[in-house]
Amino acid sequence: MFRDHASRIWGFSVLAIAVLKFGGTSVASEESRQLAVARVRAHLDKGYDVCVVVSAMGRKGEPYATDTLLGLARSLYHNTAPRELDLMAACGEIISSVVMTNALRREGIRALALTGWQAGIVTDTNFTQARIRRVEPSHLQRHLKEGFVVVVAGFQGQTESGDITTLGRGGSDISAVALGVALEAQETEIYTDVDGVLTADPRVVPDARTIPSITYDELCQFAHEGAKVIHPVAVELARRYDLQLHIRSTFSDSMGTTVTGQPLVGGHPRTVTGVTSIGGMVQVQVDFGPDQGSGDELRLFKALADQRISLDMILVTPGRKAFIVAEGVAQEAQDVMERAGFFPSIRPGCAKVSVIGAGMRGVPGVMAAVASALHDAGVRILQTADSHLSISCLVPQEHSDTAVRALHGKFHLSQ
Ligand code: ADP
Ligand code: MG
Repeated sequence: MFRDHASRIWGFSVLAIAVLKFGGTSVASEESRQLAVARVRAHLDKGYDVCVVVSAMGRKGEPYATDTLLGLARSLYHNTAPRELDLMAACGEIISSVVMTNALRREGIRALALTGWQAGIVTDTNFTQARIRRVEPSHLQRHLKEGFVVVVAGFQGQTESGDITTLGRGGSDISAVALGVALEAQETEIYTDVDGVLTADPRVVPDARTIPSITYDELCQFAHEGAKVIHPVAVELARRYDLQLHIRSTFSDSMGTTVTGQPLVGGHPRTVTGVTSIGGMVQVQVDFGPDQGSGDELRLFKALADQRISLDMILVTPGRKAFIVAEGVAQEAQDVMERAGFFPSIRPGCAKVSVIGAGMRGVPGVMAAVASALHDAGVRILQTADSHLSISCLVPQEHSDTAVRALHGKFHLSQ
């Protein structure tokens, strides 16, 4: 949908365009902005027209970071509606786009800043978690043609009727990919504070290794299961339009990770690609008596679905139904179930730990290796689930990091 529009406007593929996205730490300080400017300069020198996408400056606690702005909205009055929260949150990226534009100009690069809506990003009306419907890039393309580096505020868009929306945590990645598709960019690069997609979060596993190449499917699963280096929706969008992505560091010259449809040739075959975790999960279990049947089961799941409560790791046996929900909706899930006549047992403080890899399919013994690694590390498995790309174990949250390290070691991912 994005690409059709671009071709319709121009009728042909115009320029060699690079979209470079810089995350929060890459725009936070003078020093990091200097490095970002050097990345832009290198692309200009290669003959690209450059569109930059920026996140808000810095992380929690820093003055213009998203959390700080949302904290301000929430702390003064407790009744800020999602529409106004989005208006507040969108300021962070706008500030960042102006600062980055000035940093480029100081180095003699012609640059200008655009908000997400000035860049043509149109979303649905789902405030705080909006989805991009389409991109109308003509305004942005005109400025690129005029020779400007265009700095777009990430994470934001506008509804059909003109309300400002944001795309959810990490949403600047989605902005970058959507613009990469709409502009038919030859390069779309996600610059961050780690060397690329690593075999695990380096904050948990210090000797995690950079993965040189990964498929959309694997990375999508990895991101959904907690690897926050890129937003899963950004990967889905790249897959849909076959946009090659590159994830790399603003701070080092490491090769980074190439994301493509097929594994690049030459990489050695691997069973497991990476390990990840998501904390803040609650296990919910309901025992079914002998007189309860599939009608009750249906009623249970329908009651939860009607409240749009999202369930994961769903396990159904005749005697027991179990699943997990995010902490934030656990109380609501319990209330809904009790109103429907079910009395669940609730276990808070859980984490979902997953091994990911396209190479696991059909390989015997992966589950046995997972179980033995966790057993040897003294981690209790509360529940398991699997897909064709992953095996997940629910564990007590306090054992999450131990579990990730144990699995990383078991599958020799540091080598
Ligand atoms: P940005 O602001 O650049 O978007 P994020 O904080 O959103 O940066 O994402 C980068 C962070 O993701 C890293 O600092 C790292 O701690 C974390 N991370 C989690 N899992 C992984 C992984 N498998 N590979 C790389 N980084 C990961
Ligand atoms: Mg991010």
